Amino acid sequence: MEPENKLTRTFRLSKSKIMAGLQCHKRLWLQTHRPELCKVSEESEHIFRMGHLFGDLARSLMGQGELIGHERDIARALDETPAALARAQLQGTLVFEPAFAHYEVCARADGFEPYGDGWHMREVKAATSDKDYFYVDCAVQVWVAEGAGYPVRQVSLGIVNNRFVYPGSGLYDGLLRELDATEPVARLKPSIGRIVVQLQAMLAGDEPDIRTGEHCTNPYECPFIEHCRSQEPPQLEYPVEIFHFATARRLRRAGYTDALTVPVAEVKQPRDLRILHATRTGIPFLDKEFMQELVALPYPRHFLDFETLQSSVPLWAGTRPFQQIPFQWSCHTETAPGVFTHEEFLDVSGELPVRAFAETLLRVLGTHGAVLVYSAFERTQLKGLYELLPHLRPALSALVPRLVDLLPYARLGYYHPEMKGSWSIKQVLPTVCPDLGYSDLQEVADGRAAQRAWWEASDPATPETRRDELRNKMLRYCHRDTLAMVAVYRAFTLARQVSAAELGETTGAIAQ
Ligand code: SF4
Repeated sequence: MEPENKLTRTFRLSKSKIMAGLQCHKRLWLQTHRPELCKVSEESEHIFRMGHLFGDLARSLMGQGELIGHERDIARALDETPAALARAQLQGTLVFEPAFAHYEVCARADGFEPYGDGWHMREVKAATSDKDYFYVDCAVQVWVAEGAGYPVRQVSLGIVNNRFVYPGSGLYDGLLRELDATEPVARLKPSIGRIVVQLQAMLAGDEPDIRTGEHCTNPYECPFIEHCRSQEPPQLEYPVEIFHFATARRLRRAGYTDALTVPVAEVKQPRDLRILHATRTGIPFLDKEFMQELVALPYPRHFLDFETLQSSVPLWAGTRPFQQIPFQWSCHTETAPGVFTHEEFLDVSGELPVRAFAETLLRVLGTHGAVLVYSAFERTQLKGLYELLPHLRPALSALVPRLVDLLPYARLGYYHPEMKGSWSIKQVLPTVCPDLGYSDLQEVADGRAAQRAWWEASDPATPETRRDELRNKMLRYCHRDTLAMVAVYRAFTLARQVSAAELGETTGAIAQ
């Protein structure tokens, strides 16, 4: 369907604006009429930069071609595209980032090349599997290109081949896995004109009245979340979402929103019953008998935490796309009752950090004692290290039986009303050690921020002073994670809250 020009005012759209409008009409409306309210998170910016990294490499993997630059000058890109496509037709080569316009919609394809009596459009996405919205994205692109006079006969969607192992020396052939998207795109294309008309009409009206919900992060994090939340009444302190998600869904359907109003008869699972009881009475739940297993753990007791990075483009020979690469650890060790030491490792050199990571870790953990972690993450990473360091496999695999995961103890044996349905260590910590939290940590206060900091710190263009600042923030964050585990362990085993002053330590840093 082609849009009819019935609208009194049209708004210039782009492929990304259409995708934003499909996620939420209000998002596109705000982007168009109130752009000053947009707050892009650092994580979204990082994802965007990573997408660029993959896109640039994918271009070189698609073949020889001419790049239409002018990323921020669409008018110039539109001007230069016809001549570039004419040259490509003569030479049988690709054009990267050609720009097209149709009915006030501008869009740029990743790659465009002659194909039969028309064109082959190639789009790439930094993901290991295809998603429905990738095909919609391609359909918008094809609708615009065809409307501009370039019939598209073939559509390919290039995604990341997660079986690819980087051999090194810049050889990335095989990283891209191309899927034939011609048929799904052909099915979606007839609806694009109607979508454009609807979005234009919506933009000509008042701000849509849409409440926040799951759509605010799916498929992309919306940068207007702060604004939208500020328009809504304050959130309930204990919404039914504090229960298991299946229970919460059932309760919502039954008309409950506030956990405090839910009758006991409506809650079946033991964990949900514990949550309900603690929330109603304000009395935390602690299964002292269950925690006795932790009391009996042998010394030394190591409290361990890893930080890792992932990249769609493998950075080091022998690694795969999105493989978790550990670059930092922190370890608090209780050598005798109440006697602690702390050691740590961090590598932001940009070299493959795993060998030094594993060797220093093995030295600190030795051959005996319990190794406490919070979640299965460290166990998975240790197993991942075998693959990269086969000569250390026996020593690394000997650590696995020593691991004691505190998270199941927390889930089954502890609940405080202020956890509000979450057993993340950040949520548990203030309930067991009220004067210790994460709020004093600046810039690096969670794993994703640590990963972003690694990218910046390992960039040779980063000034040394900034690198030092980032290193300090990363070390502080990882140290806090293991100190938090010590607090959780002590509170569970002593069956009382602890204070930060009780978590005394001496530091023996071996960070690089
Ligand atoms: S925060 Fe949610 S409701 Fe608000 S504009 Fe974004 S997606 Fe729409």
